[in-house]
Amino acid sequence: MREKVILVCTKCLSRNYTTTKNRQTQKKRIEVNKYCPRCNQHTLHKESK
Ligand SMILES: [Zn+2]
Repeated sequence: MREKVILVCTKCLSRNYTTTKNRQTQKKRIEVNKYCPRCNQHTLHKESK
């Protein structure tokens, strides 16, 4: 069972990426450094909701 999640920039809150996660292995919220077009730099993105 994979769950669809949205990754949101923690600086500007824009929803830049969607991904899926495995509930069994990913119980915590996802946090990744990704490029944000709006900030024009790499920022920390967190799972929304
Ligand atoms: Zn941003």
